[in-house]
Amino acid sequence: MKIFYYDIALNIPLRRCFTYKSRERLVKGSRVKVSFGSKKVLGIVVRRIIKLDPSIKKDSIKEAIAIDKYSCYEKPLFNSAVWASKYYHHPIGEVFFSFIPTVLRKDSTKTIIPFGKTSDYLINEDDKFFNLNKEQENAVQNLSKIKGFNPALLYGVTGSGKTEVYLRLAEEKIKKGESIIILVPEINLTPQLINRIKNRFTGEIGVFHSSITPKKRYETWLKSKFGEIKIVVGTRSSVLLPLKNLGLIILDEEHDQSYRQSEGFKFSARDLAIKRSQLEKVPLLLGSATPSLQTLKLISENKFSKHEILKRIDGKKPPKIITLDINHSKLVAGIAEESMLAIKQTIKNGEQVLIFINRRGFAPLFECESCGWVANCSSCDSNLVYHKARNRLICHKCESAFNVSKKCPECSSKELKAYGLGTEKVEEALRLEFRKTPIIRVDHDSTRKKGAIEKIYSDIHKSDEAILIGTQMLTKSHDFPKVTMCIILNADNGLISPEINAIEKISQQLIQVSGRAGRNNNVAKVILQTRYPNDLNLKKIKTGNYHIIADQCLKDNKLKSLPPFSSICILRCTSPNSSNCMKFLNKVSNLLCEKNKIEIIGPLPSIPSKIKGNSRFHIVLNTSSKAYLNKVLIFLTEEFYRWPETKKVRWTFDIDPYDMS
Ligand code: ADP
Ligand code: ZN
Ligand code: ZN
Repeated sequence: MKIFYYDIALNIPLRRCFTYKSRERLVKGSRVKVSFGSKKVLGIVVRRIIKLDPSIKKDSIKEAIAIDKYSCYEKPLFNSAVWASKYYHHPIGEVFFSFIPTVLRKDSTKTIIPFGKTSDYLINEDDKFFNLNKEQENAVQNLSKIKGFNPALLYGVTGSGKTEVYLRLAEEKIKKGESIIILVPEINLTPQLINRIKNRFTGEIGVFHSSITPKKRYETWLKSKFGEIKIVVGTRSSVLLPLKNLGLIILDEEHDQSYRQSEGFKFSARDLAIKRSQLEKVPLLLGSATPSLQTLKLISENKFSKHEILKRIDGKKPPKIITLDINHSKLVAGIAEESMLAIKQTIKNGEQVLIFINRRGFAPLFECESCGWVANCSSCDSNLVYHKARNRLICHKCESAFNVSKKCPECSSKELKAYGLGTEKVEEALRLEFRKTPIIRVDHDSTRKKGAIEKIYSDIHKSDEAILIGTQMLTKSHDFPKVTMCIILNADNGLISPEINAIEKISQQLIQVSGRAGRNNNVAKVILQTRYPNDLNLKKIKTGNYHIIADQCLKDNKLKSLPPFSSICILRCTSPNSSNCMKFLNKVSNLLCEKNKIEIIGPLPSIPSKIKGNSRFHIVLNTSSKAYLNKVLIFLTEEFYRWPETKKVRWTFDIDPYDMS
């Protein structure tokens, strides 16, 4: 009887496959059940081994039992996952298992069966009560001509009608019987988008993200695979959904950091989408009003095409951004007098104000006035943030909540005070000032409950005058037509941050917030409070023209050999004992210091330097050659397996990191 041998990827943190045998031919990318040590575990078939390594004893090879008739990863998807494992230097089994529904990860009784019927997708023509404008028309025409791998950027300011362009392109694909993935940064924040898609098409619209039930996700995955669902809207985990007859990938707000997974398998769904588009030969459309430097560089090299919608739908001008020097201002909950007057006037006009402050809670510092003691998390190196509504001190790194002490634990003084500014404090101060005006806070805490965000949006749309206070959640693709004034309270932290991508981040954020204002108004204004009114970057941001600042960043980064003109990997290391991290990272740094093609920074303590009792340190590797970086990382991985120091730490590679600290 013929016996086949296979490399099988298991869901374990080892960068290798394991050899198993089978009496039948196994399908590449399909699930199998195997024994591993004393356990039965699931694996994914990676490749058939034609010639067995002579050092392996045939008798010792255990058997792999097929579970499904179908593959979880058809060819282009399979190759995309393999690419991701190599590019991010992440264990192959963990990569394979992270993109299949949780139900299929452990349970061999749940199998892949053709699911559902082929449903008819029709376009609801009644939903289109307007004609496209010239710019939209051109964009649709040019974008629909694109075939195969040819990534395109749809550059359009907020409110320019990008979403409508997505819908029209989706219509064309649906007419051809093809399917579409629409990736968004955070689905909970975009109920509007899903409603618009549902109104435009009859036929089931798949919604795929981490907060829907595992059962529902399993169903959506199956229905997509067998062609019942032709349109899926999802977050980064949807990037490798197996849609049948895929015709287009759309990735909205391509600059958004939510596309990066920063825990466990650290990957960028944007970059994986680009790879999938290449391997599957399917067009990819990126959308943004503040595209990433990476995308702009590729456009300048003619590798990506660019399509623009420069005017807003309503023909109104972009908001006017003014900076307000607050060095000599009296502030009430961080709000300067001039800003307060502007808020009053806007409310009087029956319009809405948006106040942006990127910190939730009441106050970020809880201190003893007598001895200077500061409330810190017991397991992280992080201040506790005072949350007045919950009357708790909360660690924003591990979410632990502590009682609010009445007495200082160091000196027993009762003079305890909360310092600094958070959304709750701004809300409280404004409630005192504007007793009759609806005040709506939008942050992680106010939107936690199911249905909360829908209620908030509906309250905002129902009100005339209102004050919205929010964190970066407010910057994510949502229409607030009645907002005509936007006040930015604390942009300075971003401006003076030493992080190498700080200016890119803060300018995207500020231009995105500003974009929320005045969609229906001629005279929308943005007031940017600052202590650095003469900052050169701020002056560029003030123009509201993202390209001016992006061009500057590109020039600077080219000069300094920083991304996108170089490749960065951060080697991160954690251990309950900080000296273990230092021993490990110092050894790495000594090993690499002779390599002159690579710049090494560190070891440095990460920020925060401790989370959940684990000390955190890192080394930054920067090089102009990706190929060389890859070689170095492969070399390091092999070294690490041999070192005794490795046993005392946990380490990961963070490739193209977004957070540099
Ligand atoms: P974006 O995605 O760029 O923010 P949207 O596509 O959401 O813009 O468009 C903003 C608003 O304008 C939506 O309410 C949309 O229905 C409407 N809209 C889009 N295109 C047109 C058009 N050509 N004529 C009239 N209204 C339009
Ligand atoms: Zn004290
Ligand atoms: Zn903590």
